[in-house]
Amino acid sequence: MKPLRTLKYKNDDEQPAIGLGTWKSGKGEVAKAVETALKSGYRHIDCAATYGNENEVGEAFEKVFTEGKIKREEVWITSKLWNDSHKKEDVIPALKQSLNDLKLDYLDLYLIHWPVAFKKGVGFPESDDEFYSLQEVPIIETWEAMVEAKKQGLVKHIGVSNFSKEKLEDLISKTNENPEALQVELHPYLHQNDLLEFCSKNGINVTAYSPLGSGDRSDAMKAEDEPSLLENPTIVKIAKKHGASAGQILINWAVQRGTAVIPKSTNEGRIKENLASSGYQLDEDDLAEIDKLDDHFRYVTGEFFVTEGNSYSNIYDE
Ligand code: NDP
Repeated sequence: MKPLRTLKYKNDDEQPAIGLGTWKSGKGEVAKAVETALKSGYRHIDCAATYGNENEVGEAFEKVFTEGKIKREEVWITSKLWNDSHKKEDVIPALKQSLNDLKLDYLDLYLIHWPVAFKKGVGFPESDDEFYSLQEVPIIETWEAMVEAKKQGLVKHIGVSNFSKEKLEDLISKTNENPEALQVELHPYLHQNDLLEFCSKNGINVTAYSPLGSGDRSDAMKAEDEPSLLENPTIVKIAKKHGASAGQILINWAVQRGTAVIPKSTNEGRIKENLASSGYQLDEDDLAEIDKLDDHFRYVTGEFFVTEGNSYSNIYDE
């Protein structure tokens, strides 16, 4: 099999550019999806405590690593700290819970999932008093606990997710241990070139989430008149030209930009199709046409973290 493209870290660790997303992959299907992905050649799996399925993902890891053909150290595994565990005493216990569920000794990458702190036990807040303010639990407090987790060898690399350039700058100004990775929404409707340039200058590896337009979210989370990426006529035309699927064009575009990308699928055919995305180059005409699609549209708005009067009303600093 052709070696996968990778993103390099300062210690020469390599994060495979194409990984499998697991958000919305239901219990009863996610273990099979992860096993299929690993056996098809994926070496990067994206997880999070809040997806509610790390235990099942862990069953697949245990099965595949016990079988022995694929070794733990060959696979890049990311997980994320949920927003209710930002207080310094809660970070390492939350990480240990993820490790326990995933049946692992260490993670390759641990991310602060959102720059928002909830009270312990709050999944999705419904009122202001379920949040901590930025003064009560500043992000640097959470970050210092992440640094400690790395020192203890529980994780190899640490980073953040859903942080704007302003929030990254603020964090970098307060720490000697810069985030090594950022995971944000990126696709042809949301290029975020300034953010990518900032990350490149600061040695931060970027992973693109919702690269296909985040298909199967509940209606409550969907914006009105949400545009389809997979059916966008430009993407469909470029796909036809290269004899590829629309999904493969979207994944290839992300890899060509130098980001990692984590399409979610629980369907065996699409899991394999997505990994086989980057066998050819998109040419200058393709890239110019895709440039025209950027209209700053977000599928994941973060609105579910904003209640009237809390201190997080502008998550993306836009
Ligand atoms: P994606 O953009 O990956 O889209 C997933 C949807 O596309 C599913 O409905 C899937 O259905 C379908 N699909 C997959 N492959 C293809 C294909 N080749 N052709 C057509 N349809 C396809 O959505 P996500 O929002 O899940 O993003 C990917 C991952 O990114 C998440 O799973 C998660 O790991 C991460 N993420 C992180 C966030 C964060 O806050 N850090 C936020 C959002 C996502 P099917 O399964 O039936 O194939």
